[in-house]
Amino acid sequence: MSFQNPVFIPGPTNIPESLRKACDMPTIDHRSPLFGQILHPARAGVKKVLKSETAEVFIFPSTGTGGWETAMTNTLSAGEKVLAARNGMFSHRWIDMCQRHDLDVCIVETPWGDGLPADKYEAILTADKNHEIKAVLATHNETATGVKSDIAAVRAALDAANHPALLFVDGVSSIASMDFRMDEWGVDVAVTGSQKGFMLSAGLAIVGFSQKAMEATQSAKLPRTFFDVADMGKGYANNAYPYTPAVGLLNGLNESCKMLLDEGIENVFARHTRIANGVRSAVAAWGLELCANDVSVYSDTVSAIRTPDSFDATEIVTHAASKYGVAFGVGLGEVAGKVFRIGHLGSLTDVMALSGIATAEMCMVDLGLNIELGSGVAAAQEFYRGSTADNQMGAA
Ligand SMILES: *Cc1c(COP(=O)(O)O)cnc(C)c1O
Repeated sequence: MSFQNPVFIPGPTNIPESLRKACDMPTIDHRSPLFGQILHPARAGVKKVLKSETAEVFIFPSTGTGGWETAMTNTLSAGEKVLAARNGMFSHRWIDMCQRHDLDVCIVETPWGDGLPADKYEAILTADKNHEIKAVLATHNETATGVKSDIAAVRAALDAANHPALLFVDGVSSIASMDFRMDEWGVDVAVTGSQKGFMLSAGLAIVGFSQKAMEATQSAKLPRTFFDVADMGKGYANNAYPYTPAVGLLNGLNESCKMLLDEGIENVFARHTRIANGVRSAVAAWGLELCANDVSVYSDTVSAIRTPDSFDATEIVTHAASKYGVAFGVGLGEVAGKVFRIGHLGSLTDVMALSGIATAEMCMVDLGLNIELGSGVAAAQEFYRGSTADNQMGAA
């Protein structure tokens, strides 16, 4: 594997030089006002990225998975009901975690390739007259299938049923890359990590709690120690953590938020949409299909591409790594061997995306797929030439 080539896995993403430098810090006293000068701006930056005025932001030394655990253990008690749809590997793992925490998960099985069924959520919530369901889980962007879901529609389902359940959103592969509106969508816990849209290495679980979620922490009885937001909040009041923080990564996060907000968060979203459209033009030119079943659910951060039935899609990923030193994502779970994934999120330009498209194309031709060399690249080139990217510096 080459260290020069960008990666095209859907996280961890490419780390801009400025963020690598920001993470490289001498040791400081992590219980001092100096640490506060890193911690508090980083939390304020995250809050802006989440588009929230009122959320409490907590940052744990962990990953997105720890963010899931933070959401459930701080707001729920054993035996309580939660509602979740399973439409890919990540929603599956979140459900599994709930079950291991003795939550009673009402699972809506959903085809891998579809978005979350807000209509089914509404019917179930409406029928739940006694409000036994305490939380609704929504994976905003299913990274396994390249499917985004409509969180506003999930909120509308809760509202239509006049249901008080909390809304948890896994935004690990959407926040800081795709449109996300914590307050407007009434999200109670937003979960992400440092290594996707924030363009850092893995190591931070980043969560936003609404005031309603903060209230739920008062009565929630699931055991929590490392991920206790009350302990964390007390630490923050003293410019500290209950334990040792990942100071360098937090400094990187502070810098990352500045980068995203300097580029303009709407510009960041537009860049992801444009790059994704270029990738999708290439997929169409190859005569291949996405795992995502409808244009309305196409993800702007990752494309899962179906290969012909008799072909093992994982070979593309193995071959790309060994012959060209480039990383793509394999298919996971139900779609293992059926799809390969091009991650197109984080620090990426049109030109970088073209190199990934060209590499995927070479691999497919090398492996005997009936694809014309240059066809996908040409389609993406035409798309990027014709689209209006007036600022490619933001992603550099
Ligand atoms: C990457 C990812 C996760 C898991 O995050 P980790 O940081 O690997 O723990 C969870 N959900 C989604 C949608 C993801 O893309």
